[in-house]
Amino acid sequence: MRQGAGGPLERLVGRLRQALSPPSPAASAKAAKPTAPVIALCIDGESLPVTLRRNPRAKRLTLRLDPQRDGVVVVAPPHVGLAVLKRFVADKSDWVRTQRTRQPAGVAFTDGATVPLLGVPHVLRHQPEGRRGVWVEDGALRVSGQADHLARRTTDWLKRRARTEILARAHRHAGHLGVTPARITLRDTRSRWGSCSSSGALSFSWRLILAPEAVLDYVVAHEVAHLVEFNHSPRFWAVVGQLVDDPAAARQWLRQNGPGLHRYG
Ligand SMILES: [Zn+2]
Repeated sequence: MRQGAGGPLERLVGRLRQALSPPSPAASAKAAKPTAPVIALCIDGESLPVTLRRNPRAKRLTLRLDPQRDGVVVVAPPHVGLAVLKRFVADKSDWVRTQRTRQPAGVAFTDGATVPLLGVPHVLRHQPEGRRGVWVEDGALRVSGQADHLARRTTDWLKRRARTEILARAHRHAGHLGVTPARITLRDTRSRWGSCSSSGALSFSWRLILAPEAVLDYVVAHEVAHLVEFNHSPRFWAVVGQLVDDPAAARQWLRQNGPGLHRYG
C-alpha cells in the first residue's frame, strides 16, 4: 500500500529526517565524543578503568580484576541497566581494594624488570651494543637493539620460546598416547591456558612460558589428553596421570598464580 504526500507515513519520515539532520556545531562537538556508558570505580582517590562486557549467556553480574590495565572487568547479562551496574561496581569496591593490595602491579618489559622464565626469575637487561637479539646469560634475559623496541622484542622472544617448549611437549605427549594434534596455535587468551577443539586443534597461551615447567607441561598434557578423551571424566584424568606426575599441584598453582601471569608485558 502506498500513501500520498502528506499522509501519516510521509509525516513520520519528515520527522525522522529532522531528527537525523546534522545538529548545530555545538551539539556535534559533543556527539563526537564516545558516549559509551561510563562506570567509574574509585579506590582511595584513584579511578580504575572498568571494562564492561555484555554476555548473552551470563546469568548474573560478575566482576574480576584486570591486572594488565590495573582495573576491573564486569561481565553482565544483556538486559542489566546502567544504574544496577553502577551499584554493583560500587558494592564491590572493598573487595577490589583488598584484592589489589594482594596482587602486585603490572610488570612492564623494561630494563631491570624481573621476568619469570619457566618459573625462574630472570632480570631483563637492555644491551644496546649486543648483536644477538635476545639471549639468556648469567640468569638475565638480555635484549639488544633500541630501547623503544625492548618490550616488543622481549614479548616476541617469549612467544617464540613458548612455542618451542609447548610444541616439543605436545609432540612428546601425543607420541606416548599414539595421537597427532591437527594443529597447535599460541594465543594470548585470558580465559583459558589451553584448549582442544573437537577437530583436534590445540591452542595455548604463550604466557605459560612464564609458569614453572611442571605447570606448562601439565597444561600441554591436559589438552593432548583431550585428543583421547574429549571430556573431563575419570578416564580423562587417568590419561593425564599417565603423562604427568602431579596434575593436582599444577592446577592448584594455576588457580593461585595464573592470573598474575597476565601482569607481564
Ligand atoms: Zn580440559
